[in-house]
Amino acid sequence: MIRELHEKLIKGEITSVELTEKYFDAVEKKDKDLNAYLTLTKDLAMEQAKKVDEKIKNGEKIELLEGIPGAIKDVLCTKGIRTTAGSKILDSYIAPFDATAIKKLKENGAVILGKTNLDEFAMGSSTENSAYGPTKNPHDLERVPGGTSGGSAAAIAADMAAWALGSDTGGSCRQPASLCGVVGMKPTYGRVSRYGLIAAASSFDQVGTLTHSVEDAAIVLSAISGQDRHDATSAHSSDKKFEDYLDGKIKGVKIGVVKEYLEGLKEDVRKVMEAVVEKYKKLGAEIVYIDMPYNKYALPAYYIIQPSEVSSNLARFDGVKYGLRADDEKDNQAENEFGLPKTLLETYLDTRCYGLGAEAKRRIMLGTYALSAGYYEAFYVRAQKVRTLIKKDFERVFQEVDVILTPTTTAPAFKIGEKADDPLQMYLEDIFTVTANITGVPAISVPAGTVEREGKKLPIGFQLMGKWFDEEGLFRAAHAYEISQ
Ligand code: GLN
Repeated sequence: MIRELHEKLIKGEITSVELTEKYFDAVEKKDKDLNAYLTLTKDLAMEQAKKVDEKIKNGEKIELLEGIPGAIKDVLCTKGIRTTAGSKILDSYIAPFDATAIKKLKENGAVILGKTNLDEFAMGSSTENSAYGPTKNPHDLERVPGGTSGGSAAAIAADMAAWALGSDTGGSCRQPASLCGVVGMKPTYGRVSRYGLIAAASSFDQVGTLTHSVEDAAIVLSAISGQDRHDATSAHSSDKKFEDYLDGKIKGVKIGVVKEYLEGLKEDVRKVMEAVVEKYKKLGAEIVYIDMPYNKYALPAYYIIQPSEVSSNLARFDGVKYGLRADDEKDNQAENEFGLPKTLLETYLDTRCYGLGAEAKRRIMLGTYALSAGYYEAFYVRAQKVRTLIKKDFERVFQEVDVILTPTTTAPAFKIGEKADDPLQMYLEDIFTVTANITGVPAISVPAGTVEREGKKLPIGFQLMGKWFDEEGLFRAAHAYEISQ
């Protein structure tokens, strides 16, 4: 997609301004139904597009991403533009700076169409936790697009952007990609700077991509990755052009498969996954059946560590430092029930009570509990030990195989409202994706096919996980499958 658009731009078949307008037209037509975008940045987009057109007119060389319009999950700070994180508490927050990923995109000449919807503070699996209403799945408007990067995934699936950024703490690029039939990628922890990415759980969060193809994911990642002095956890990884590694070669690549994962699936989903495995065999890859005994503890460990970090990270939203201050939850008075000026504590409480949604509050409470004296050792420390064991499992397996293949999700998109009142069911959506965040390895979801639900064909994806900082190998394996389709 990006490469074709690039060719068109340099051949003069279309200008970046025309391309950008085309996407805004698509948004105008489709987004009333989908609610993928929270904010459109038309002025910025046009200004960026014009600059690129000028360059082309002057005969200057342009890079692959230059002049190509994309969307940004509204959890990344964009200078001078409203950045909500899907929360009421940041409803009026205008970010005073660009996240590093955004800065790099701008330097690369990419065009930014707008900011996309998400579950509040990137917590959820359906985009229903947004304070701005749910996003709908373009394949069936009664269904969720997945989450938390549901707006970005829907924008790609409905072709309302050529590429999109998401964030992935436990699967938020890959799970919506699976449910929307697009490619979702989470890089190795540290590959992309988290500076300006509003934090959910800092030891899991990574900026990732939602795209039409594996090559597009590689192109966008090349643009946004690299070490950054603003993020101490960003790694000394040499800058690479990941798209240059996509040579279609898969012969002899060892792909690890956990048999029980496939056996536990519903028949139609299992068949789709088995077909992927067969395809890889046909292409010359070697399938190695592996054992990952600690993986079954990944989800419980994630749902202890993630809320613990969230409870600390969300403490900054207190009605003083950023965005909203609810002077009173009901009548917005600066006085308390006794007619006295509010105390600081009352301001905190009212702001957080009013400004945060149910899931954010649930995680804050879970995390505070897991970190409290007396429970810290029993929950948090234990979960961290499990994290180490899972990591060791991965280290062992990666001595035998090059990539690990799993389903991305157990099922296709579910109905809006179906799991909204059952947090545990919602958490199970992440069963195959959280391990990549727990261990930090890169992972990608690639469309695998469709399954039928209530007469509708719904997409579903498979996941590949790669070795730490081996995005090249991961992309190459994913790409080889994609081009064989
Ligand atoms: N669904 C997971 C959660 O709610 C993952 C979210 C994410 O990756 N941002 O925590």
